[in-house]
Amino acid sequence: MTDDQGFPVLYYHRVSPDADPRTGVTPEQFAAQMAVLKKLGFAGTSLERALDGAGQGEGSPVVALTFDDGYEDNYVHAAPILESFGFVATIYFVAERLGKRVDWTGDPLWSGHSLMEASQARDLVSRGFEAGSHTLTHPDLAKIPDTLARQEIGESRERLSQELSAPVTTFCYPYGSFGPQHPAMVREAGYRAARTVRRYRFGGRPDPFRMACRPVSGRMGLPRFTLTMLSYSLGLRGGDVP
Ligand SMILES: [Zn+2]
Repeated sequence: MTDDQGFPVLYYHRVSPDADPRTGVTPEQFAAQMAVLKKLGFAGTSLERALDGAGQGEGSPVVALTFDDGYEDNYVHAAPILESFGFVATIYFVAERLGKRVDWTGDPLWSGHSLMEASQARDLVSRGFEAGSHTLTHPDLAKIPDTLARQEIGESRERLSQELSAPVTTFCYPYGSFGPQHPAMVREAGYRAARTVRRYRFGGRPDPFRMACRPVSGRMGLPRFTLTMLSYSLGLRGGDVP
């Protein structure tokens, strides 16, 4: 057993030489992690492609690589490293913040970092990356009225698919926060899956609108990263590695 969806999902934020270990990894750390994946035989891919291939049981085991918020450093640093290993990934964009800076929190750890321009996002899509939605403005869905939440979920999909000329099929909950009504809203808006920030699946059975994942930050050393991925490749739950 890997995770409920049959393959591991990792999630990142920043990839930058100046990333605080709580918000991201350095390009060197990231390259070392991707080398571990390659060495263990994993193909790093987007969530969408991983879902397409799930259950087919052929070829290399896949790991879905996902990045929240769409930081410009993902374009500058992460994408070329991924491609050097033959990997792609999913980037979760905040539709109304393309080309802007993080303004949804006053926390100096996160606030003010540059987000990708639409042209950079389009370039990544043309290189095989998946553009997913992380809402319009990055609200905490559990704290806003349902009408607004529905708009954040639905309109971000339309906006991004128009602006990036690409289908937007997966969603990611800001702050990993959602109420019991939100997974259905995501489904009704036309997405096929949604990623949370939880390491373990919710309830007793797999749910594509509450997908579990493994966070990776600069605080996770290479030995623990390796052990986590090794446990996945052995068919254990990687999330169980402390
Ligand atoms: Zn976010």
